[in-house]
Amino acid sequence: MSLLVVGSVALDSVETPFGKADNVLGGSATFFAAAASLLTPVQLVGVVGSDYPMEKLEPLAVRGVDLAGLERADGASFRWRGRYRHDLNSAETLETHLGVFSHFSPKIPDQFRRAPFVFLANIDPRLQREVLRQVERPRLVACDTMNFWIESRRPELLDLLEHVDLITLNDGEARQLTEQSNLVKAARWILARGPRHVVIKKGEHGAFMFTESTVFFAPAYPLENVFDPTGAGDAFAGGFMGYLARTGDLSEPNLRRAVIYGSAMGSFAVEQFSISRLLDLTHKEIDQRVRDFHRLVSFDQDLNE
Ligand code: AMP
Repeated sequence: MSLLVVGSVALDSVETPFGKADNVLGGSATFFAAAASLLTPVQLVGVVGSDYPMEKLEPLAVRGVDLAGLERADGASFRWRGRYRHDLNSAETLETHLGVFSHFSPKIPDQFRRAPFVFLANIDPRLQREVLRQVERPRLVACDTMNFWIESRRPELLDLLEHVDLITLNDGEARQLTEQSNLVKAARWILARGPRHVVIKKGEHGAFMFTESTVFFAPAYPLENVFDPTGAGDAFAGGFMGYLARTGDLSEPNLRRAVIYGSAMGSFAVEQFSISRLLDLTHKEIDQRVRDFHRLVSFDQDLNE
């Protein structure tokens, strides 16, 4: 089943303790599509400026990402510059240049409007809301956000929450949005405002999925070398939503499996800069990592104790 993503398509400049990359492919929709397209066809909506190296998106198109909704506007592309110090769990944003995003108004092509699965990747919540006015009753709408928007567009973000089924955000963002330091309380706060599922990611410490009556936890894959954490959250979302769209099953056990696919994709994304690792990833490697996750968390319960 098709999966629509609307989000940023960016040029990133990233510094980690292991190296630097300048003006590489980035953006929430780009990472998402690179991961999700390994599992299901993806339809992408976004905007780039006249300076964007379009040919670098070709491998995504070859992989089945429909770029018919990617607008090319006059002006500069969205650029993000960030740095990670030794704590690879938190990015320090050094610069955000919205460029063509500051005048962007998403137009969902007719052939995308009936997508059953919709992901509103990290962009201005006003644009995320606008997308929902143009789509026809999707089976599942999920969104992401970040500190930048929690600070600058809080009322719009709260309004958006009333219209989504699921939200993914990291622990810092959950605390900032809800003003609750305890993550269980933070999840409750969000669940009371609309979404039926809340996924809270904790970087190298895994991810929780909360509903009104259940909690599921998946660890992060214990990688020996994390090279660049940029895009891990979007790749997680791509694996999660891609798996749901591929299977078309929204039962609780399948949502749990989707969290594992998300965790697997996030773990691959951080192995190299930009979307490089997601581009050379094979289905065999994905299956193997999902099996490794299964082994990582399974144990025999001693019922006699
Ligand atoms: P993640 O590490 O998964 O949270 O996402 C990293 C990506 O988010 C980078 O490729 C950036 O280009 C993109 N990004 C950073 N800031 C913003 C923003 N304010 N709005 C949309 N996308 C952003």
